[in-house]
Amino acid sequence: KTAVSEEALHGPAVMRDGAEVTLRANVGNAEEAVESQKKGASGIGLFRSEFLFIGRDSLPDEEEQYEAYKKAVEACGKAPCIIRTLDVGGDKKLPAFPIPKEDNPFLGVRGIRAELRNESVLRTQLRALLRAAACGHCAVMLPMVTNPSEIDRVKVIAGEELMALKEEGKEAVLPNFGAMIETPAAAVCAENIAKHAGFFSIGTNDLAQYTLAADRTNEAVADIGDALHPAVLRLIKHTIEAANAAGIPVTICGEIASDALAAPILAAMGRVALSMGAGSLSRVRSALKKVSTEEAGEKLEKALSLEDAKAVREFLK
Ligand code: PEP
Ligand code: MG
Repeated sequence: KTAVSEEALHGPAVMRDGAEVTLRANVGNAEEAVESQKKGASGIGLFRSEFLFIGRDSLPDEEEQYEAYKKAVEACGKAPCIIRTLDVGGDKKLPAFPIPKEDNPFLGVRGIRAELRNESVLRTQLRALLRAAACGHCAVMLPMVTNPSEIDRVKVIAGEELMALKEEGKEAVLPNFGAMIETPAAAVCAENIAKHAGFFSIGTNDLAQYTLAADRTNEAVADIGDALHPAVLRLIKHTIEAANAAGIPVTICGEIASDALAAPILAAMGRVALSMGAGSLSRVRSALKKVSTEEAGEKLEKALSLEDAKAVREFLK
């Protein structure tokens, strides 16, 4: 019995008609990365590297970062381990990484914007990531991308650090660089971003916040900020179609991917992987199993035509 049930918990989720959906894990550290693979995730869709930086007065050095990334990459075996560079700013504050006080931090220097303004921190992280990429299937994604030039600049810096590492006699390779699609601009212009990125990862938490103009940390507007709003669903669908057309992989790594109501219609949007906290994997697996691709496609069509998130939720229930 154990062998059968364990088998059923691993590999892709299977919809009622046999269509497969890759499930990955969202993790915050190397230990969670190891655990998530035992719980049946096919690799890591989002390693939030900021958790290595939070709750301390100094920044983790290259060696400490390398050890953590290497452990996560090795835990994934042949499956991809997608590590996100430091996503600081907005609601995420770090004592060792001061960001000038801003009136609107969510619209200010956060994610890739903060990294590019603190290049030495970015360089150290990239060095650790380039070395971890020599240990397995490591991919690197950039948070809060608005313009393709941000991706290009990171690639230039990574190239310089690769040369430096080689000169120092350290093993390193350039990983695939991907963009998080979590600003409406990146979603609307996904075709342009796809020319500069090796893959996409859709951050629906921020994408919903910015599309619906509802602060994700403000309980009073939580209902307005629901990512099941048709406006957000249309942006997600457009992004997946752009990735599929460009032939690059795309994952959804925001909370919506772990929502059993949402998972089937997300899977119906095109070729897309879903990434979530390891605790949600089995729930999403069973939700997908109950629906065929065709039914999910019909539900998606209807959901896209509804007027607000509440209507979509009620319809999907
Ligand atoms: C997101 O915005 O959906 C996301 C996955 O990133 P975070 O929640 O860490 O901002
Ligand atoms: Mg985000």
